[in-house]
Amino acid sequence: MKFYSYHTLVLGSGAAGLAAAVRLRAEGVESVALLTEGLDQGTSINAGSDKQTYYKPSLCGATPDSPRAVAESYLLAGGADGDLALAEAATATRAFFHLVDLGVPFPRDAYGQYAGYRTDHDPARRATSCGPYTSREMCRALIREVKRREIPVLEDRVAVRLLSVPGENASKDVPQRKILGVVCVNRKTLEYEVYRAENIVFAVGGPGGLYKRSVYPEVHTGAIGLALEIGALAKGAPECQFGLASFTALEGRTFPKKSEVATPKEFRWNVSGSFMQVVPRFVSTAADGESDAREFLTEYFASPVKALERVFLKGYQWPFDARKIGGSSLIDLCVFHETTIRGRRVFLDFRANPVGYAIDALPPEAREYLVKSGAEAPTPFERLMRMNPGAVELYRDWGVELSREPLEIAVCAQHNNGGLAVDVDWRSLNVEGLYPIGEVAGTHGVARPGGSALNAGQVGAFRAAERIAHDAGSDAAAPEIDEAFSIMANAETTRLRLTARRALERGIDWREERDAFQTRMSVACGILRDAAALERARNDANAQLTRLYDCGNESVLLNPDDAAPASRDEIETLRNLQLCLAHKVYLDSIYENAISGVGSRGSQITLDPDGEPISNVFPSNWRARPEDASFRRRVFYSYLDSNPGDGGPLATRSFWREAKPIPEPDEWFENVWRDYREGKIYDRSASR
Ligand SMILES: Cc1cc2nc3c(=O)[nH]c(=O)nc-3n(C[C@H](O)[C@H](O)[C@H](O)COP(=O)(O)OP(=O)(O)OC[C@H]3O[C@@H](n4cnc5c(N)ncnc54)[C@H](O)[C@@H]3O)c2cc1C
Repeated sequence: MKFYSYHTLVLGSGAAGLAAAVRLRAEGVESVALLTEGLDQGTSINAGSDKQTYYKPSLCGATPDSPRAVAESYLLAGGADGDLALAEAATATRAFFHLVDLGVPFPRDAYGQYAGYRTDHDPARRATSCGPYTSREMCRALIREVKRREIPVLEDRVAVRLLSVPGENASKDVPQRKILGVVCVNRKTLEYEVYRAENIVFAVGGPGGLYKRSVYPEVHTGAIGLALEIGALAKGAPECQFGLASFTALEGRTFPKKSEVATPKEFRWNVSGSFMQVVPRFVSTAADGESDAREFLTEYFASPVKALERVFLKGYQWPFDARKIGGSSLIDLCVFHETTIRGRRVFLDFRANPVGYAIDALPPEAREYLVKSGAEAPTPFERLMRMNPGAVELYRDWGVELSREPLEIAVCAQHNNGGLAVDVDWRSLNVEGLYPIGEVAGTHGVARPGGSALNAGQVGAFRAAERIAHDAGSDAAAPEIDEAFSIMANAETTRLRLTARRALERGIDWREERDAFQTRMSVACGILRDAAALERARNDANAQLTRLYDCGNESVLLNPDDAAPASRDEIETLRNLQLCLAHKVYLDSIYENAISGVGSRGSQITLDPDGEPISNVFPSNWRARPEDASFRRRVFYSYLDSNPGDGGPLATRSFWREAKPIPEPDEWFENVWRDYREGKIYDRSASR
């Protein structure tokens, strides 16, 4: 086994991890490396939407704005803390101009103003975009800067276990840990490698591998389970975001290889914005994808025009939203009903108009929009070509021709507003030396302004880098690899290898196991949540997790063959451990929310026999428990209280805390200046 040591290791090379590596160097931390599955992996470089949004304060015209006003927008739907909202708002402008200066082509006018538009949950016009691939443009610019600064990039490494010891503050209710390093498998050499680090900036992205129906890029599974496995505290885990997305198998299609992004088996894309505003046909078929094709929306609406109106609205109300089930989110429910209850498949067809379509029959808002956009063309495809030819092109890039074939769609998991709990320096609340940033950090609440995920990743990178550089001072050296660490790393690695190899020997197929927990999550933890179904799913989850971890609990010594290099199956079997563990914590958290009486909010409806019927076209048990608004002032925390590898009982503990208000610090310049000079701005252990 090979051992390496860095003062700070950045794990993950999405937009957040790349920015952290750059900022750490800029802050003077020399001993830093970026460890990743690959620069072409993750969500940031592989995902986008018709106009992928970046959220920042208003920087144009006479629109007044302030950090506090932005922070207030973050808290509108509740379930989030004011101190983090203020920190995200306060560093947003700096983080945005950092990207501009690195060459990200955010549009500006002749006077240098960065105009904005209104996005979801945005009371002002703070959103900007570089087009469909904003986060890819960010990655490109940040990768150039990582290379210019000669920061070591360790690609083809899959992290499989975080190494930690009990932390100092044992008196706290939640177990405290201290990070020591990480075990990885090198996908090229198939060797195990151990990294010792004082700090790990944990930028492994959102939980992409947890849902069967997902618009996260196929190459991205995420790795929050590694931190949950060592007991890291999570916050707001149930607040996932879902919406309509297409998924197209790429086998047999011809398209040029894109040099800097991963080639998936399935191309996935949000069908938001113009894809809906051009009002395509919604068609469902039998399970074979061909027979019994019919336009189905008319069955669910009082008139065809009502359906067309909701489809148009869906364009700028993309996420499924419990508050809009009488409006545009009814479209998501219809698609969900067709696919999950009726077992049919749903397609968007741009080749012909839906039943009842005529420009004059559309509601005034939709008609005006199409006329103003010069998109009064006869078919949805032609309207799309006029309104947003780039949207057609991006499907062509993957060999999909919208003028000739329909697009299969479903309600898909897209984002987690929650994640690991952090303070305003993006330090884990209970694992010393762990800095979760980007989507894996749980800084948002029930809903967030569109584009704030990308801002949060950049702000987290700035804040974590500043805190690490401040704490390390001029001694930011790589820690020594002492005997105690080597013994522990060897023992953990041996246990991991045993777990994986015994699983393979027993014929446990990682693909089937992954399919099982992903399907469980999509069925029980999607847009409709039901406590009884969640309870059954939790039992199944526990059984699966125990079975997978049990393989490492047998007292079998490694035989000589065990010294052989790892295989791809071994790596994916190990990846399943942290994914399966994460799905257990998410399931338990979602169940706790359902039985706490939070009700229907964000991107989910909680079913309740005493709830309000959603619509008489749906099954009679689709009754929504109304939101209990008092929960908006509270934040939900959860953590795993035992290590499954120890064979003990598996328990997810959870609790609610009052949400922190937006702080009102002393803003008198002379006082701020003094605190800054004296380094007091970092003196806030009380906020942890
Ligand atoms: C379809 C879609 C559209 C979106 N649109 C928007 C939008 O308009 N605006 C917005 O703000 N947000 C949007 N988002 C969300 C946003 O793109 C993500 O939250 C953000 O890109 C996540 O960045 P990240 O750096 O945290 O993680 P990622 O970009 O996912 O990077 C994670 C990194 O960690 C690495 N990694 C993971 N596990 C391991 C492991 N075990 N070992 C080693 N490396 C590992 C990965 O390889 C990758 O390098 C969208 C998301 C999707 C899916």
